[in-house]
Amino acid sequence: MSIAGNVGLADLPRICPLISRRVQTSVASEETRVVTVGEVQFGGGRPVVIAGPCAVESEAQTLAVARAVKAAGGDMLRGGAFKPRTSPHDFQGLGVEGLRILSEARRETGLPIVTEVMDPRLVETVAEYADMLQIGSRNMQNYPLLVEAGKSGKPVLLKRGMAASLCEWLGAAEYVAKEGNLDIVLCERGIKAFPAGEYSRNVLDLGVVPAVKEETFLPVIVDPSHATGVASMVERASCAAIEFGSDGLLIEVACDHEGAARPKCDAAQAINPKTLENIVKFIESRAEMRMMRKAHAV
Ligand code: PEP
Ligand code: MN
Repeated sequence: MSIAGNVGLADLPRICPLISRRVQTSVASEETRVVTVGEVQFGGGRPVVIAGPCAVESEAQTLAVARAVKAAGGDMLRGGAFKPRTSPHDFQGLGVEGLRILSEARRETGLPIVTEVMDPRLVETVAEYADMLQIGSRNMQNYPLLVEAGKSGKPVLLKRGMAASLCEWLGAAEYVAKEGNLDIVLCERGIKAFPAGEYSRNVLDLGVVPAVKEETFLPVIVDPSHATGVASMVERASCAAIEFGSDGLLIEVACDHEGAARPKCDAAQAINPKTLENIVKFIESRAEMRMMRKAHAV
């Protein structure tokens, strides 16, 4: 018996011929296609650290976090201006004002910015401000949004749907690629699987990192913040992701965790700048080790 819509890894060359390593041989067999955002390179060897607040809440909060990210050695700034919230009564983001604040943070720190776009009608507006467009987990299969992001000409950070198989995720990336945009970076952010919610927000699926590399030439990064939902787990999850070959990390950071300045969104998973600095140091030590291994390889 065959089940309609049931696809497996063997179907990937048919579902996503543009990004399939098995179909496209232009990128050498073990290589990753480098995606460039300003001077930042995903898949270029050194893992990229994107960090920032969950949501852009004010100019003062965003600039403080941006400065801390820069000082800790981060490569890019993240921050949501349009927030996908479970409740419509919760803070929805500052919208275009949030985009303006992000571009001010970029002007001051030089960090390129990535921010989420949720609505196909807003892709053009968000692309005017952002260096990279983020498609969130909830919108991974919003096909009109993927098409517009593909047409925007901006690099796209495509998060994995919280219950998406590898085939579904890569099929979504193919929608962007079909518009002539191969500047796609995939982002694993944890999946809803037992026992998600008991002691961590989601289940971090690190095995998908080498699987993505096996099937495609696209860079893949890991978001340890939404994967765990617990600040004390983020550093270890980050290190593990790097060991699994991740091309980077997307991390939520806050400078103030208490009182009125406590983040309105995802406060429990926001790490402080010192922890971010430790993660950057870990990456540097691994990069050195990888270079030494390469130099000694015959
Ligand atoms: C985010 O990174 O801001 C976010 C909302 O994450 P996700 O789409 O993975 O839930
Ligand atoms: Mn968040």
